[in-house]
Amino acid sequence: MNLSDFNLRIEAISLDIADKKGISLLIARADQVHPLASGNKLYKLFPNIEYAKKNNYQQLLSFGGAFSNHIHALALYSQSIGLQSVAIIRGEKEYASNPTLSAAVKAGMVLQFVDRATYRRRYDKNYLKLLQRQYPHALIIPEGGSSELALQGCTELMRQINHHCVEQQGVMPDVVTVACGTGMTFSGIVIGAESHQNMLGYLVLKDYSIYEKVDSLLSKYRHNRNYIMQAADFGGYAKLDADLLNFILNFLKQTDILLDPIYTSKMCRCVMQQIEAREFVAGSKVLMVHSGGLQAWYGMKDRVIRLAGEEVWKKITVYL
Ligand SMILES: *Cc1c(COP(=O)(O)O)cnc(C)c1O
Repeated sequence: MNLSDFNLRIEAISLDIADKKGISLLIARADQVHPLASGNKLYKLFPNIEYAKKNNYQQLLSFGGAFSNHIHALALYSQSIGLQSVAIIRGEKEYASNPTLSAAVKAGMVLQFVDRATYRRRYDKNYLKLLQRQYPHALIIPEGGSSELALQGCTELMRQINHHCVEQQGVMPDVVTVACGTGMTFSGIVIGAESHQNMLGYLVLKDYSIYEKVDSLLSKYRHNRNYIMQAADFGGYAKLDADLLNFILNFLKQTDILLDPIYTSKMCRCVMQQIEAREFVAGSKVLMVHSGGLQAWYGMKDRVIRLAGEEVWKKITVYL
């Protein structure tokens, strides 16, 4: 199995804001490539797993919050290929019953809950050594799956986007937009892009050190220079308010595509604002990457019902 075997669908979508301003919108459905592991997390995981297999690791260990898309993908995909998975989770063991982690446990993942102070040590060499001693057969993968190996998978994702765009839509995108957490996916996408393409990254959390991290990571590689990152946190990480939910529901109504509540919805919302403000040249072909993350909706159930009612929640679950 190779990343290029995944059937990455590129869809042309029509949204009134973009139509009015003469922008063609495309969306890369990385959320749909695999039934178990979602979106960019699969592309990031793949090279790590290849490496683990080649080097006879029997387990994969990583870090995440209680609703992490990465932990979910790691658990389910590892199980499907017969590798054991372990996760260091920030928070209390009561979280084990939430939808993300109960799916992970069902897939055989071992969970270790740690307090915030311990979790903060997730990049600390001594802490990692300790964990390695505790799990001697585990390949330790950083939070979000963001090892440098993951970069290769995301570079391949961009190559696949261009390839499938030409094949399915007969065009190449002028602009590619990506939601950023650690910025690893975006970095890979910048490396994999053609020199005439403009790459835009949308940071959904308030950690401005990410800008420098991406610059310094990219400085080690040959890459497309036309990239910009900008803030798109709309109040902070994982904050879903009525405005964002309305945006998501309106997007769903017009395109029949459900965005995730944490990453792609904020990126798309920011892109629409930029289109409204005429920041893109008329005639541009703008491709948005749907990087997945739909399982995170289960963690938003109560909030959705509180904000919009049971009926809306039911409508969302149809797409999960
Ligand atoms: C994790 C995630 C991202 C961000 O990926 P990074 O490589 O950490 O920047 C974007 N979209 C979705 C849906 C994600 O789950």
